[in-house]
Amino acid sequence: MKHTLANVEIDLQHEPPRPAAGELRALFREESEGTRKRATRQGLWIAVLAYLLYSLTDLLIVPDVAVYTIAARFAVGIIALAVLEVQIRTRVSADVIDAWSAAAVIIAYAGWLYTARMTTDTQAISYYMVFGAIFMMSVNLFFSFQFRLALISSVTSMLIFLGSLYTFDPMATLQKLTLGAFCVSCFVFTSYVNFKLNKERYKVFLNALEARFQQKEATERGKALLRLSNTDPLTGLENRRAVDQRLRACWEGWQKYGRNFAVLLIDVDFFKHYNDFYGHQEGDRCLILVANALSDAIEPYNATIGRYGGEEFIVLARLETREQAGELAEVICRTVEDMALPHGQRRDGTSIVTVSIGASFTRNQSGSKLEKIIHEADRALYAVKAGGRNGVRLFDPNDPQSSDESENIAAILKIAIEQNLVSMVYQPIRNVGTGKLDAAEALMRLKMLDGTPVTPSLFIPIAERTGAILDLGRWAVRTVCRDMLATNVVPVASVNVSPIQLKAPGFAASVAAILGETGVAGNRLAFEITEGLEMEMNSDILRCISDLKMLGIRIWLDDFGTGFAGLSWLRLIDFDTVKIDRSFLHDCGSERGKAMLQDIIGLIRNRGPKILVEGVETEAQLALMHRFRIDHVQGYHVGRPQAAADFQSTLLANRALKPARR
Ligand code: C2E
Ligand code: MG
Ligand code: MG
Repeated sequence: MKHTLANVEIDLQHEPPRPAAGELRALFREESEGTRKRATRQGLWIAVLAYLLYSLTDLLIVPDVAVYTIAARFAVGIIALAVLEVQIRTRVSADVIDAWSAAAVIIAYAGWLYTARMTTDTQAISYYMVFGAIFMMSVNLFFSFQFRLALISSVTSMLIFLGSLYTFDPMATLQKLTLGAFCVSCFVFTSYVNFKLNKERYKVFLNALEARFQQKEATERGKALLRLSNTDPLTGLENRRAVDQRLRACWEGWQKYGRNFAVLLIDVDFFKHYNDFYGHQEGDRCLILVANALSDAIEPYNATIGRYGGEEFIVLARLETREQAGELAEVICRTVEDMALPHGQRRDGTSIVTVSIGASFTRNQSGSKLEKIIHEADRALYAVKAGGRNGVRLFDPNDPQSSDESENIAAILKIAIEQNLVSMVYQPIRNVGTGKLDAAEALMRLKMLDGTPVTPSLFIPIAERTGAILDLGRWAVRTVCRDMLATNVVPVASVNVSPIQLKAPGFAASVAAILGETGVAGNRLAFEITEGLEMEMNSDILRCISDLKMLGIRIWLDDFGTGFAGLSWLRLIDFDTVKIDRSFLHDCGSERGKAMLQDIIGLIRNRGPKILVEGVETEAQLALMHRFRIDHVQGYHVGRPQAAADFQSTLLANRALKPARR
């Protein structure tokens, strides 16, 4: 069943239906069947024994016919019990057993009366006959017969009694009247009591039934509440709470019995754009559709699915191998793609809803923790997102971005500033027309505790993932302002900033504070934003960029041409300078490559920003840049990145050399 919000609520409102009056009667009869049989059996046995014991009174009161009465007692008693036992064994209904027992009482009465009346002692029998009332009372009070049966049998007993009185000539009329009245009174009172008893029994049954219903309701409500507390109200999938419980169970299974499992984190790509454009209702609908599709996709696998956060789902699957985990992730990814839900607001050339999946699989390692497997899936997911989304990635411990080494780097990054493990180097940017050094790009460097350098392409993504980039970024801006701008080493310095920084609230304000603190004008600072798929140009980023521009800071587009987004960014943001990625220059060996670079240059020039070409390594390349009328160049041929002090001394040495050259 597919889940919606309504389903979950209905569970709580639900009350089990109460049976109608007719059904209640039937239920009562059905439920009392067993107890009635038992009670009647017990009652008849006791009644027969008492009936046989009354043989003694026969011997005392009517000794002349006692032999007949006693014979009748035994005959009727034995037959009554024999038939009863056969009925019990052949499982006849309680109604039949009751009818037989009522009939047995009447036969017993008639049998005794008939034989007793043969006595010659008319006085004795006229007293003894009063015992007939006992038979009537027994069907009404001693047995638990239903009212109708009790009434029929007690009326029959009464009629026998009255008939026998009427036909008993030796008895005086007064005595007949007295006994008759007694008998009728007995009938009326005992029948009334029987009626009340039956009503009471039914009431007790109804109360017990109601109590049962209420208990059932309470149990079901409890279950519904539990389900609700474990259910995501939007998609009907398990929520994070429930998933965490399942995860612990999987983990225990793995720790105790070595049962492998995989964790898949599934993120709906560019969901924020979807929500912003189509509205929250459509966004919710999209999540429900995706959730349903995912539930269907995992059905053939030994897997469960839950909603882990906004647009993030999680699948836990007990699988045998890593490869199966990869296959499952692929299946899920394709399933969502096949739904082809339109998403016209993404900027990566795709126009349908897709998902990115990061997966991790249990593996033997020392000191492993439950959180680690989630963390690994998260890292794999991060890698998929950074790689352009709409794909799957299985966490690979041998991948440098995933390795324990990266854990070490993440730890080092936390203490890098206070332990002086991070530093800045500066690479000159030369004006092609004037030959002057117009600016320098600040590049971050990191070393481990033992002094081993770590390349930025390794530590920057880790810093972005862990959020360490926020502190490092502020530190970088402060260092550049202090070492290069406040001291006027270069007119302008560019600093690379990550999208994470631009998205973080208060980034522009913190930059403003640094400018104020160091006394540097905002227009001497440039921020390089790298064109990459991982950067969604959302409103937060655009707002931050506009705030930075208000401070006078220039915005440069870095590594232009390496992603899809560059062109649309050129439309969205008024860049001061566009840096063409060095790969284009390095392709210039061929005519095709040269034409390509020229096309790119033409395209940017038409839009207005200045052009900087990165990666100039040779004199020939520099000459080409002259020919193409490029504004600025940067590269090993112009100068390698150097620490501030070295940069400054190289600069001074070059200035000293220049007049000599002339
Ligand atoms: P990027 O901003 O494109 O920086 C230019 C990279 O190209 C630098 O690598 C630089 O050393 C290298 N390079 C410069 N001239 C040449 C050349 O002629 N030939 C070749 N082959 N390479 C050249 P680096 O320093 O390793 O930085 C790599 C990337 O790391 C940077 O690319 C930038 O995206 C990122 N990065 C560096 N520092 C920071 C930082 O402070 N913050 C942020 N967010 N990212 C940074
Ligand atoms: Mg750069
Ligand atoms: Mg670059």
